[in-house]
Amino acid sequence: MSFNELGLDPGLLRAVADKGYDTPTPIQQRAIPALLAGRDVLASAQTGTGKTAAFVLPLLQALGDRRERAPRALVLTPTRELAAQVAQCAREYGRHTGLRVQVIFGGVGMQPQIDGLRSGCDFLVATPGRLLDLEDQGVLDLAHIAHFVLDEADRMLDMGFIHAIKRVIKLLPQQRQNAMFSATYSEDIRALAARLLHDPVAIDVAPRNTVAERIEHIAYKLPKEHKRHLLAHLIKDGDWHQVLVFTRTKHGANRLAEQLGGAGIRSAAIHGNKSQSARVRALEDFKANRITALVATDVASRGLDIKELPHVVNYELPNVPEDYVHRIGRTARAGATGHAVSLVAPDEGGLLRDIEKVLKRAVPYAAAPAFEITAAPQPPREAPGREATRAQPAHHGRGRGYGHGHGQSARRGGPSHRPRSAGRPGASPHGGAAGRFGGSGRKH
Ligand code: AMP
Repeated sequence: MSFNELGLDPGLLRAVADKGYDTPTPIQQRAIPALLAGRDVLASAQTGTGKTAAFVLPLLQALGDRRERAPRALVLTPTRELAAQVAQCAREYGRHTGLRVQVIFGGVGMQPQIDGLRSGCDFLVATPGRLLDLEDQGVLDLAHIAHFVLDEADRMLDMGFIHAIKRVIKLLPQQRQNAMFSATYSEDIRALAARLLHDPVAIDVAPRNTVAERIEHIAYKLPKEHKRHLLAHLIKDGDWHQVLVFTRTKHGANRLAEQLGGAGIRSAAIHGNKSQSARVRALEDFKANRITALVATDVASRGLDIKELPHVVNYELPNVPEDYVHRIGRTARAGATGHAVSLVAPDEGGLLRDIEKVLKRAVPYAAAPAFEITAAPQPPREAPGREATRAQPAHHGRGRGYGHGHGQSARRGGPSHRPRSAGRPGASPHGGAAGRFGGSGRKH
């Protein structure tokens, strides 16, 4: 099927062609005609499926070439990054239409957003908090919204936005078209869908909680305190240029970014305590390959659109198995292959089993390559137990998966899992503090 068969206007088709897309993705094939026909839509689709264009294109078409002062289409997103990306997408697809797109989110000055609204806006993309702030101040008129999209609704609920969403819905006219996108379905999501949508067309392109088959999943079992050393080794030895690393906490993200930086790997952390400008800068640096490792918490990573991200590392496993699906949804997008590595401390084995249940497939343990443990230079009292070591960490494979990925990875130019000889105790191929403490040659 080609885009020409979907019933889109020539201006939009031209914008699609400008982007270089010739075949609509499955979600686009099904959602675009339904939305163009004025139907409500309930779509189960993860990031990476092309879902944004699936609602942006028909909404732009529904707005036509009529410009009004107040917005007629509203897309609510859980995070600032996703709002910015959806708005960017709407501007790109709407470039031949003359429609004005405005984005509203917190963490940045209000005035430019107020000015943007006052000068007229047709297509509004917003996070709930700032949207309600502006509405409270009387600078926002939602009385003309005829098309409403709730994007990543599951994450909205996870982030506690349910009351804000209900308040926003009350501010909208009764007569309107609605669409809801969610990667997962809980009872709460179903209840919200029942409340919001009228006789929706249900579209399920990524069956619930499944993950792209193209992704290679691999796990290394090792003590928590060795994780950063193995990660630094994988990045350097595998010559990784772009890796998204997940930690559970903001503090952990900061610390790991610093530690990787100390190991000579350009890194930045991205999480909710960072200012909006710092988050945007980190993301841009990452996309432009100015930094190698972007260390993120789950919430901050939502909706990140990073094209063909080759490596995702679960530095700590998520407590909620579905978050693993969201995390690796950042990789293997739009036809590329991806690689998801989990570093599993002994107390995280249960979490990995929960993840396997959700994935309905095994995540095999691999034998970790030999890697260097470099002592932190500052605290001398810690030094005796943390000498430079060539480590071959214990790997307690569960009777399967040993050596998994060697051939495949090598063929793809991916990471190397080649177990190295653990010789030359104390040698420090990457320099750093290792040599100063002398090596014990202790193997794991
Ligand atoms: P999304 O799921 O909306 O975040 O989109 C995932 C990625 O796929 C984005 O980088 C889009 O630009 C890209 N994309 C969207 N539609 C297509 C298409 N029909 N063909 C190829 N890439 C696409």
